[in-house]
Amino acid sequence: MCAHHHLYSALARGMPAPPRTPRSFLDILELIWWRLDRALDLDAIEWSAKLGALEALESGTTAIIDHHESPNAIEGALDVIAAACAEVGVRADCAYGVTDRHGPAGAAAGLAENDRFLRAGGRGRVGVHAAFTCSQATLEAAAGLAADHNTGVHIHVAEGPDDAGAGDRLAPLAADGWLLVHAVHLDQELPGTIVHNPRSNMNNAVGYARPAARPNPVALGTDGIGADMLDEFRVAYARHREDDVTATPEAAWGWLETGWELFPEARTDVVRWSYGATDPWSLAFTTGVRALDAVIDGEAVLRGGRPTRVDPDEIRAKAAEAAARLFARLDEIP
Ligand SMILES: [Zn+2]
Repeated sequence: MCAHHHLYSALARGMPAPPRTPRSFLDILELIWWRLDRALDLDAIEWSAKLGALEALESGTTAIIDHHESPNAIEGALDVIAAACAEVGVRADCAYGVTDRHGPAGAAAGLAENDRFLRAGGRGRVGVHAAFTCSQATLEAAAGLAADHNTGVHIHVAEGPDDAGAGDRLAPLAADGWLLVHAVHLDQELPGTIVHNPRSNMNNAVGYARPAARPNPVALGTDGIGADMLDEFRVAYARHREDDVTATPEAAWGWLETGWELFPEARTDVVRWSYGATDPWSLAFTTGVRALDAVIDGEAVLRGGRPTRVDPDEIRAKAAEAAARLFARLDEIP
């Protein structure tokens, strides 16, 4: 179970280099991710989601909590992602990341997409990009919408220093059902589950989140760098141990298991692995463990490492074509 993914980033690998070298977390957002999301159309979203879902299944990850942003293709985006995951056979929980970066109309369209998707019976939460790119009115609207739909808000919280004020902004709004993603620079306690993304945090040089020191439940996500959760568990353990020599793999294993609380349906899924031992101490030091078979919702969707519902070669070929179109659009974005 991956508690925080960005399926839209599956096509980003190999993307054109940014106009200059990012020198901060905000640079990374502005020069890479906020250019990529503007270049997304529904076609790119579809193939990116199919490729991401395929890679999740091949990694033995049967459920994904996704966080999506595509400011020039908002309406219907969550349906496209949910359908792509359903086609591959992987469970998905979708959210559109609301933000005021594209003005009040952009924020309203993001809220409307969350509302439309949830109202139609989609499985998901109300997405918010982050407090530092939203007005307080937008944060309040998202919190209210989530409460109306009896779900939580899925939001990046204090990932980098630019969002260090998130605690004060969210304190009046946050609730137990919220997903607080990253919480690296969070300066106070908020209700909700913290989603720790150790590899992404290292990649963005934002510092160590010290999830073990938080009173909240902690789950693990990849933040869009694939969906191999055994691998993310190993990275989480290694990063924890680097910070504290008394840390054991049981802590990171517990974070992995918290995922089931967020996606209870996935508890019934069965995965058979290429390695027999399934205890944290063995798996923390065994790299390259592969999923052989997966049964999701009673259906065998992976057999002998091959998906049964879709042709992986076709998805990879079509995704590569969609990536080429995406990169061409990206070259035209300043
Ligand atoms: Zn994220």
